[in-house]
Amino acid sequence: MEAGRQDYNLLVIGGGSGGLACAKEAAQLGMKVAVVDYVEPSPRGTRWGLGGTCVNVGCIPKKLIHQAALLGGMIRDAPHYGWDVAQPVLHDWRKMAEAVQNYVKSLNWGHRVQLQDRKVKYFNIKASFVNEHTICGVTKGGKETLLSAEHIVIATGGRPKYPTHIEGALEYGITSDDIFWLKESPGKTLVVGASYVALECAGFLTGLGLDTTVMMRSIPLRGFDQQMSSLVTEYMASQGTRFLKHCTPSRVQKLPDGQLQVTWEDLTSGRENMGTFSTVLWAIGRIPETRSLNLENAGINTSPNSQKILVDAQEVTSVPHIYAIGDVAEGRPELTPTAIMAGKLLARRLCGQSLDVMDYSNVPTTVFTPLEYGCVGLSEEEAMARHGEEHVEVYHAYYKPLEFTVAERDASQCYIKMVCLRKPPQLVLGLHFLGPNAGEVTQGFALGIKCGASYEQVMRTVGIHPTCAEEVAKLRISKRSGLDPTVTGC
Ligand SMILES: Cc1cc2nc3c(=O)[nH]c(=O)nc-3n(C[C@H](O)[C@H](O)[C@H](O)COP(=O)(O)OP(=O)(O)OC[C@H]3O[C@@H](n4cnc5c(N)ncnc54)[C@H](O)[C@@H]3O)c2cc1C
Repeated sequence: MEAGRQDYNLLVIGGGSGGLACAKEAAQLGMKVAVVDYVEPSPRGTRWGLGGTCVNVGCIPKKLIHQAALLGGMIRDAPHYGWDVAQPVLHDWRKMAEAVQNYVKSLNWGHRVQLQDRKVKYFNIKASFVNEHTICGVTKGGKETLLSAEHIVIATGGRPKYPTHIEGALEYGITSDDIFWLKESPGKTLVVGASYVALECAGFLTGLGLDTTVMMRSIPLRGFDQQMSSLVTEYMASQGTRFLKHCTPSRVQKLPDGQLQVTWEDLTSGRENMGTFSTVLWAIGRIPETRSLNLENAGINTSPNSQKILVDAQEVTSVPHIYAIGDVAEGRPELTPTAIMAGKLLARRLCGQSLDVMDYSNVPTTVFTPLEYGCVGLSEEEAMARHGEEHVEVYHAYYKPLEFTVAERDASQCYIKMVCLRKPPQLVLGLHFLGPNAGEVTQGFALGIKCGASYEQVMRTVGIHPTCAEEVAKLRISKRSGLDPTVTGC
């Protein structure tokens, strides 16, 4: 063990979205800060640099590859708009992957520079607790360092789950930790899972022209509005993604030609089926990175069910000077902006600059499936459960994006609904938008909803014509009325 002990005001474990934001803010406010970050390679050997899940194996590469897939759709639209596009139009995975990976590497570098600029000491070591003020960090080469600090923030995020009970799953399958770093096209792919990660990956693979199947045991997008979720998968199916519903895999075997033979059970018929794929991608959820932290050495409590770290509203764990933020903390949305904001606010409180705590209500998000689904606030089911069906009014509309008309695109799943309290002025409880640029649309309305907007106020908001977003401000038909919610064009 290295002799010198290093003392910091703040030690952050995990250099991802939350950890980096917290460390940089605290250093800027005058604290002596260290960040430790270490990426354990995936079972397939994929590794990456500083920045955590979002930068390396999450939001960033995902959105860029989603964009690559959307461009395919635009190329198909282009002849309708007069472009003479030579056929066939081919996609080169290798070229796309290289460009995306290079951009991610530039972000890794950018994060290192930012830490240096703000005088945050960075250690590329894997941390575990020795006691409640000290961690032991181990380098890739096995060298150990002890670091101690007054305050410690745990921001270690999570990693994809493997179904270890399924023969061949770990040996032959990949996860979202690998897909963005593949040098060659994954080819015909089976995506197992119904999470947003599963649907997003299946969506872009289909969009890039790959034969893609999603196998799901139960409902898609658990926790999201179920009517919207069904429309998401309906659109994906219309674009060529195959769905094997109520099915669960039991075995993955490698055939002599390198292909993967998957055996699964159809839970409806009880029958066993088989199929051959080039790639099997598990997207069945994530496990918090708490296992190797030796939390018990510091007396930090975790949830027995989720293994996530228990925290209070101030992000404090069971130990008063140890905090947890982001995906590793119990009950927090697994999203980059919430991790970042929680990290910054925590740093400000630790530095005595503010008493503000993170408000986790009305957090907007978007699922980047081929038809994007943006939402903020409560799902229709959740609103009914919390307020009672008789107190909830849902306004809705099917609409046709103007861009779809000339391109003759089917808009059957372009749909918006606003979930409100029934009593005037009809406070907006949730907004759900399915259509192009859903993230951009939802972000704008999220401010209004955060400020307590009512249905009446949204209806008094002047639209921007001709956009899809303006359809939100034109939602006149309530579900209760039973009238046809189809809007006839712009
Ligand atoms: C495929 C995918 C797509 C996503 N898309 C979106 C999206 O579009 N929008 C969105 O908002 N969110 C998205 N997310 C979620 C988002 O990436 C996470 O919510 C966010 O990165 C969480 O940040 P964090 O700081 O909690 O942890 P992370 O960013 O995961 O960072 C944790 C860091 O700690 C390191 N670490 C772990 N254990 C140790 C240890 N013992 N010692 C040292 N270092 C350690 C890890 O290697 C990692 O670098 C996506 C996630 C995935 C998987």
